[in-house]
Amino acid sequence: GYLDEEISVPDYTETEMISSVFNKMLKKMKVLDDSRQEFVANVSHELKTPMTSIKVLADSLAGQEDVPVELYKEFMQDIAVEIDRENKIITDLLSLVKMDKKASELNIEKVNINELMENILKRLKPIADKKKVELVLESYRPIVAEIDEVKLSLALSNLVENGIKYNVEDGWVHVTLNADHKYFYVSVEDSGIGIPQESIDRIFERFYRVDKSHSREIGGTGLGLAITRNAIVMHRGAIKVKSEEHKGTTFSVRIPLNYIG
Ligand code: ADP
Repeated sequence: GYLDEEISVPDYTETEMISSVFNKMLKKMKVLDDSRQEFVANVSHELKTPMTSIKVLADSLAGQEDVPVELYKEFMQDIAVEIDRENKIITDLLSLVKMDKKASELNIEKVNINELMENILKRLKPIADKKKVELVLESYRPIVAEIDEVKLSLALSNLVENGIKYNVEDGWVHVTLNADHKYFYVSVEDSGIGIPQESIDRIFERFYRVDKSHSREIGGTGLGLAITRNAIVMHRGAIKVKSEEHKGTTFSVRIPLNYIG
């Protein structure tokens, strides 16, 4: 008796069951489709904005008689800035699209993580110096892990770059590396502006920026953290963030030492 009770199912007819499964599938597909549509709409918008500026600048130059050379130069510089921005968006989008492919396309190698991190900091030092932000690396042990060097470098580099970009003058970014028998850990802590609590859950979304105008000034595309999270998830890793406004932000990353395919 009691076995039957356990597995007894409500009295659905077969057609009802099929139609319920079908409805669920449709709903799921709709959610996927909506988010894809939203993504495409965002991409179009982001790509169009610099183009609109370029067009306005070019038209107004072309429409004037006897443009003084100084004005000409100024407009051309503005155009160059917009082209740089367009380029950055396209580069970020291409990285994101590449990572959307299957994890089997990771190019896994044994990589010295301490060296990888040193190289990232070396590359970012000029921007840090320019903002008078101090970069510090603390390695608690030598780490060798099976990773895709290009993708993970980009992921970690984005975190450090954000630590610099969203910092204050005379601020700092501390990177620490550690490992146990299973994982290695990277934490990127900064003394910067922090992230409001209501935005914390959204910062990994594509194109999401806390303060659109401010981030634009800083030169963000809103794609950096989406790229970072993608790369980390592809490695079966995890990322979390803790932040306090006007105090700073800490990103903590955990990646398996051995690649789990
Ligand atoms: P962006 O290209 O705008 O930097 P990201 O995807 O890298 O895009 O980050 C999304 C948003 O999250 C940023 O625009 C910024 O508002 C916020 N953010 C990211 N990292 C930090 C940080 N270390 N400190 C404060 N805010 C941050």
